[in-house]
Amino acid sequence: MSIARFWRETPRRYNLGGSKCMACGSVYFPPRSVCPVCTSHRQSIEKMVPFQLSGEGEVISYTVVHEAAEGFDMQVPYALALVRTPEGPVLTGQIVDMEPEAVRIGLKVRATFRKLREEGASGVIHYGYKFTPVDEPEGPPPGRGPVGAIPATSPSSPERTPA
Ligand SMILES: [Zn+2]
Repeated sequence: MSIARFWRETPRRYNLGGSKCMACGSVYFPPRSVCPVCTSHRQSIEKMVPFQLSGEGEVISYTVVHEAAEGFDMQVPYALALVRTPEGPVLTGQIVDMEPEAVRIGLKVRATFRKLREEGASGVIHYGYKFTPVDEPEGPPPGRGPVGAIPATSPSSPERTPA
């Protein structure tokens, strides 16, 4: 592929452009031309429209990779995560801009576009999406109460039956 063609196609690579089934509302990334959810697949053929993912997501699973595939040598260890987007699709991507050990389930992330790898001798550089942690607002993440502020489960002045 020529350099010119690479850059012409770049916007598409950089967009998390999926497709949405207007029949049932399912969103797909990468885009699909037929909806596998709809009971009548043919019905969905004309109903698939381009749909832009926001790039927001939440880590639902991850692994820390210590042995890199060819071309990724300089990046180990790194965290590879499954990220569920609010739109529905689950994306696989590397978590960057934080220690791999600090990645956790429930981490809010956002897609960013980075160099994925270089092809050794040719020097061709591939770009794609990775995920960076989203700065969370003040306070603990949702679903986790602040430590030490757990409400007492027993009444402060328990009723006692007089002996
Ligand atoms: Zn559908």
